[in-house]
Amino acid sequence: MKTLKDFENEINKCSKCGLCQAVCPLYKLTGNDCAVSKGKFVMLDGVVKGDLTLNKTIDKYIEMCLKCGKCTDFCPSGINVCEIFKTAKHDYIKNTKTGKLISFLQSEKVFDKAVDIIGNLNKTKHNTTSKSPVKTLLFFKGCANKVVPNSEKNLKHILSQLPYNLIEKDFKCCGVPFASSGNLERYEAVKKYNSQIINETECDYVITDCASCAAELSNYKNINKPILNFVEFLAQENIKFKLDKKYKITFHKPCHLKNYEAVKKIIANCENTEYTQMPDFDTCCGFAGQFAITNRKLSKELSKLKIKNALSTNPDIILTACPACVAGLTQGMFYTKKTAKTPKIMNMTEFLALANPYL
Ligand code: SF4
Ligand code: SF4
Repeated sequence: MKTLKDFENEINKCSKCGLCQAVCPLYKLTGNDCAVSKGKFVMLDGVVKGDLTLNKTIDKYIEMCLKCGKCTDFCPSGINVCEIFKTAKHDYIKNTKTGKLISFLQSEKVFDKAVDIIGNLNKTKHNTTSKSPVKTLLFFKGCANKVVPNSEKNLKHILSQLPYNLIEKDFKCCGVPFASSGNLERYEAVKKYNSQIINETECDYVITDCASCAAELSNYKNINKPILNFVEFLAQENIKFKLDKKYKITFHKPCHLKNYEAVKKIIANCENTEYTQMPDFDTCCGFAGQFAITNRKLSKELSKLKIKNALSTNPDIILTACPACVAGLTQGMFYTKKTAKTPKIMNMTEFLALANPYL
């Protein structure tokens, strides 16, 4: 397992140019230097040199990050920011009481059991298509879909009308919550488990309707099948959708959904839709997993800002492509003053399930 010391050269690559400040949603909101990677690297540089101790205050600023990756995309030094923050978190919690508590709560006995119990209550059936399947898809359900089954139900409904064979396996969590909290041992264990299932299963694609799961599976780097977000898959196959009434829509792009062009293609493939891009459509909704718990106030502010931008387009429906972002948008709407017209918030799968899909 790598330690922060292993990233010393990477941390030194930070030229303090400040370009990350221009894109970091938290820096824009707070103006706090320690909220953005530039400031965090000043602290972590002190830690690797032995001038500072990795203490509670530094941990607080490591936690003050959405892991949205915007700074990574814009960093001229190409620093893998999120990888360094995860490692710093791991170094901080290992051998502490907090670390032991996190390991216990995220263990198979507790975390997996809780997700399985809820998942079994919410189990949805897939009706196989009557058309002869042209491709086989392996469905990576993700924990959010086990807990809130709506999106999965809709994905299965759409696929039951198309010539694709959907298979399911008993996957574990993709590992995002484990990596974010510095529990890298558990992350490596689920990565090994999930990769083995994917690599041994005969299928054309692995699909998931959670942007974070798709991004994390791609991060595994040891998988021998293409990983696609469900929307990307539909766009690739050029599936069209017929809606029986007109909808004004806008779209929040999840931080981890890289292929925005696929979303635009699917929206263009939906008859009867009027799409308006909201300002800052690709800025984090504020939910960002445990950030919503550890940084409550900032999370609420970012979600409210997102809804303000969405409402400026006067939509009937605010769409996204990640169950966690649905929660972020819902949080933002909850804390926004009600107006005469309150748009619905939907995952793309729910919206597309309103339509008749065809090839
Ligand atoms: S953009 Fe990259 S190099 Fe520039 S200050 Fe931020 S982290 Fe450092
Ligand atoms: S990952 Fe996002 S929130 Fe975290 S420092 Fe980079 S831009 Fe800011």
